[in-house]
Amino acid sequence: MGRGTRHARPIVLVHGGAGARKMTDEQALCLTHSLVLGYALLARGDSALAAVEAAIQLLEGSGLFNAGLGARTQLDGVRRMDASIMEGRRLRAGAVAGIEGIRHPITAARLVLEKSGHVLLAGEPATRFARHFGLAPQARRVADRSDRPRPARGVTRTRQLFRALQAPRGAVRRLRACGTVGAVALDARSTIAAGASTGGIGLMLPGRVGDSPLIGAGVYADNESGGISMTGMGESVIRLGAAKAMAERLAAGRSPDVVARTVLRALVARTGGRAGALVLGRDGRFAIRHVTTRMAAGYWDGEGEPVVRDKFL
Ligand code: ASP
Repeated sequence: MGRGTRHARPIVLVHGGAGARKMTDEQALCLTHSLVLGYALLARGDSALAAVEAAIQLLEGSGLFNAGLGARTQLDGVRRMDASIMEGRRLRAGAVAGIEGIRHPITAARLVLEKSGHVLLAGEPATRFARHFGLAPQARRVADRSDRPRPARGVTRTRQLFRALQAPRGAVRRLRACGTVGAVALDARSTIAAGASTGGIGLMLPGRVGDSPLIGAGVYADNESGGISMTGMGESVIRLGAAKAMAERLAAGRSPDVVARTVLRALVARTGGRAGALVLGRDGRFAIRHVTTRMAAGYWDGEGEPVVRDKFL
């Protein structure tokens, strides 16, 4: 679905991943809170960047999504997370890939943007960078406690890795339990920002990095076109450069709805992948589209009630 009228007032959109699973009531409430928080910041004049970070932080901290506190593990039992954030006035961007033990990877990404002069930090140095700025540690999940069975080792692990490489019907299985989070926002100064944060997909080889920390793949923001936050099969999203492909079409004057449909259709046709997108134009028109069964997402521009659903067809 999308908003067709020109309407450049502050607005925030969030998502909690695309896949097959139904959104729970708790997740719906959490997405609603995230919209309310993001919009409250925009309404008091804060930047789109601040609204996107805060909206995503709330989702990361909930433990209800595959990001931050709720991030899933890679096949060696380690949780490595990816996140990125971008603002469209000066095209500033920051991202982290394979970060560990940090509750808010989106804030680590924003610190990369604000403090490092780089765009992307990866692995252990990214974790150290986040710790240097005193970011809160990620709480351990029950399954991660040392008194619980350790992640698969030896033969079992080799079998799991082999299964991942073979992955029959892998795309479907990997997407079933998605819950990556993302947001895009337009602020009162007409600046757009976008971001995403994830624990990745199912059956990931250790070290796998998805689209979420890759500017132009999972996330893009440009005041001359719009803001995009993707979710779904990262490998497909990367191969298509989906977020940048959408931004280019927005810049050429296409509507967010047409842009989302065109690029998602191409993603299916060219890569066989499945994904969903938040697409926000610089004039405030937007689209939420997915080629998965469901996508948990919502939007709010301060009028009426925030809208949150898990189907936008
Ligand atoms: N795009 C994310 C990744 O591939 C997963 C997702 O959005 O569910 O890491």
